[in-house]
Amino acid sequence: MVYTKSITAFDEAYEVIPGGVDSPVRAFSGVEGTPPFIDYGKGGHLFDIDGNQYIDFVQSWGPLIFGHCDKDIEASVIQAVQRGLSFGAPTTVETELACEIVSLFDSIDKVRFVSSGTEAVMSAIRLARGVTERDNIIKFKGCYHGHSDSLLVAGGSGLATFGTPSSPGVPADLTKHTLLATYNDIASVEQCFADAQGEVACVIIEPIAGNMGLVPADESFLEQIRVLCDRHGALLIFDEVMSGFRASLQGAQGISSVKPDMVTLGKVIGAGMPVGAFGASKAIMSHLSPEGPVYQAGTLSGNPVAMSAGLKSLQKLKAQPSLYVELAAKAKRLVEGFQEAASAVNVPMVTEVRGSMFGFFFSDKVVKNMEDADANDTKMFAKFHKGMLDRGVYLACSSYETGFICTATSDEMIEEAIFCAFETMKEITA
Ligand SMILES: *Cc1c(COP(=O)(O)O)cnc(C)c1O
Repeated sequence: MVYTKSITAFDEAYEVIPGGVDSPVRAFSGVEGTPPFIDYGKGGHLFDIDGNQYIDFVQSWGPLIFGHCDKDIEASVIQAVQRGLSFGAPTTVETELACEIVSLFDSIDKVRFVSSGTEAVMSAIRLARGVTERDNIIKFKGCYHGHSDSLLVAGGSGLATFGTPSSPGVPADLTKHTLLATYNDIASVEQCFADAQGEVACVIIEPIAGNMGLVPADESFLEQIRVLCDRHGALLIFDEVMSGFRASLQGAQGISSVKPDMVTLGKVIGAGMPVGAFGASKAIMSHLSPEGPVYQAGTLSGNPVAMSAGLKSLQKLKAQPSLYVELAAKAKRLVEGFQEAASAVNVPMVTEVRGSMFGFFFSDKVVKNMEDADANDTKMFAKFHKGMLDRGVYLACSSYETGFICTATSDEMIEEAIFCAFETMKEITA
């Protein structure tokens, strides 16, 4: 493939945008080459400015469960645009979308819309702290909850229980209230509660982690967290910004029987427009301004164009109950094909699928937490990524990301991607 125009575009962007990108993951830092600049998308395909065509397994990092330019979503967006882009006043489409979400999630009576997943989680944490009148929060190594200060803690060392900031510019005074636990390891959560002397506002978790590769939580682990939260009066927050409407119609909550106190949503609820949301029981949400004292606001929150896109998307999802089974079957076929391609050249690979989400690691060990994920062969991944891209398969540019299937991803596209995986594995191990 020829990437000439994209390479020039990247150079030009680099002059005026830090790293040439508006979100660091897009920069191809962990893989070979430079990012293709996108011209347009169509169904399950992406087209770059050099005219290259790709099967898209990124889908804007999750939001596009119906693929690019879905006719119904496009029509509802165009209708909304023609009535005005934003009013900063209530619109009925916000209530409609809220009703859809409330009807789907047992754990949500009321929901507040914001403009990104980061904002949703940041606001949920503030509300949890306001409701419990406590400062400490427990998060898990490898879980991503957006880039707000308290949550930007990776804590690589594993020795320090209390969080140290993972970015300059985040005061240690802010992250000292963030305690780090190990995913799928309940003893580490108990230790955090002990260290905080029970004074924990909330535990926040991706119940299906998608930001250290695809790493689902064990059901028993979630059950035990629920027990610990109840024992210590802490709120349990499921961050389903990625898994919501992706793993199942109710995200992880359609798969697990554990009920959180609060839920954060994003990605699919905006169908590609900037939307986030957080919801909980009436009692918890009544603490939120203007009903209660916990402040939270947004000029463009509940934006009518974004709400219309999300509403149409959820209506379409609800109308097709078998959709997630079909998507999961395709995703499973894809990663099984990848695995066959790897084992044909004696390269170990482990895989996971949850609904329309898929993950694979070049590793011989089942991945249960961040430390396991770190054992993956990132060099092999970088070569695989490049080989696939050159053959027209667009995969996320990091081995720690989740892949996505959309309704427009056909069986032919899956088979083509598997064929490319065989060719690529042969090439990079030759
Ligand atoms: C993507 C993501 C976020 C952040 O959402 P943005 O819209 O990028 O701010 C938060 N939590 C999880 C689990 C995510 O996957």
